[in-house]
Amino acid sequence: MPLDIAQLRAETPGCEAVIHFNNAGAALMPKPVLDTVIGHLQLEGRIGGYEAAAAAADQLEQTYHAIAQLIGADPDEIALTESATRAWDLAFYSLAFRPGDRILTSVSEYASNVISFLQIARRTGAQVEVIPNDESGQLSLPALREMIDERVKLIAISHIPTNSGLIQPAAEIGKLAREAGILYLLDACQSVGQIPVNVREIGCDFLSATSRKYLRGPRGVGFLYVRRERIATIEPIFLDLHAATWIAHDRYDIRPDARRFEQWESDVAARLGLGAAAAYALRVGIEEGSARLRALANQLREGLQTLPGIQVHDLGRERGGIVTFTMEGFAPEAIKAYLAEQRINVTVASKASARFDMEARGLDAVVRASVHYYNTEEEIAVFLDTLDTLRRQGPDSQQALLARASRRK
Ligand SMILES: *Cc1c(COP(=O)(O)O)cnc(C)c1O
Repeated sequence: MPLDIAQLRAETPGCEAVIHFNNAGAALMPKPVLDTVIGHLQLEGRIGGYEAAAAAADQLEQTYHAIAQLIGADPDEIALTESATRAWDLAFYSLAFRPGDRILTSVSEYASNVISFLQIARRTGAQVEVIPNDESGQLSLPALREMIDERVKLIAISHIPTNSGLIQPAAEIGKLAREAGILYLLDACQSVGQIPVNVREIGCDFLSATSRKYLRGPRGVGFLYVRRERIATIEPIFLDLHAATWIAHDRYDIRPDARRFEQWESDVAARLGLGAAAAYALRVGIEEGSARLRALANQLREGLQTLPGIQVHDLGRERGGIVTFTMEGFAPEAIKAYLAEQRINVTVASKASARFDMEARGLDAVVRASVHYYNTEEEIAVFLDTLDTLRRQGPDSQQALLARASRRK
């Protein structure tokens, strides 16, 4: 069934207010998600937070089911967290590393993940190594195969990086990890909701993701998938009275399911909103939504390439909805500020968010325009026109723009 874009936009209040090309930051929530979150907060206000959670218990279970269905997992393999980063951390920091253990990661790895690698390397004597790219800019599978030995303890990569349209070959990496019996942690923060993601096909042991990006859920909630065979063998770094039960003065039992990685306190409204977002994504159709947003992104890349002075920076064989570019003579922050004045949302990806990659390519910062299926061809045309207007005003216009933007902050 083709997507009914008019209907999808009518269900997305933000479409009236802005041209939203910041879906990799936080996408616009559709009305069923907003209604779920707001409705639960109102229920908490009316009858009490614990009482509202009890009333919503069945609905909360649906969040686990919808996420599981979305990624091809079982509900008991899902833990809900406050963010994708925390989900990733719960997996990573629960692993025991010894001196000489090797952690393999990608050139395009996300800053928070690398910071954690460096911290654990410092603490334990494990070493972090970067798998080189192939000539297309994606992770080189032959290079990874070469690097694998019995000292490799973990392969941890980002499926889609924060700062480019690149899609990494997650399933091929998974095949190598499985063959070698190495733990595989996939940061799927940008891919869940953007492209089809199936944990059995990918073969990962852990997968972390968020609600607010391509899934279109609320902020402040994310999830961790843990492959069933791994759950019992990995003791979570944190335990509380939800993850475990205190059964005798000197003993506790840890839950048998992935919820051993959760904590008791949570934003119930956000968790319900995540469930509504996952159900919505399933209803829209991941394949259909993904095909459309990738076509829109390609259209945007092609349009950008026709404008003088613009360079598109996306790498790889497979490209998704994140489009990154620079414009000669203009600071990415100034471009963002100008677009914001025209109610067009983009963001800037800076060197510090993916330093291995940005440094290798000599990039300080790029404009990141990330599209979703509910964006339109007309919005892309307006975007390109607006950029062209800025370009014609010339680089001297930037100072005033940046000054206005800093006054708005
Ligand atoms: C945004 C992002 C994260 C962090 O997600 P949070 O929900 O902010 O913790 C992790 N990895 C990648 C690749 C991202 O783009």
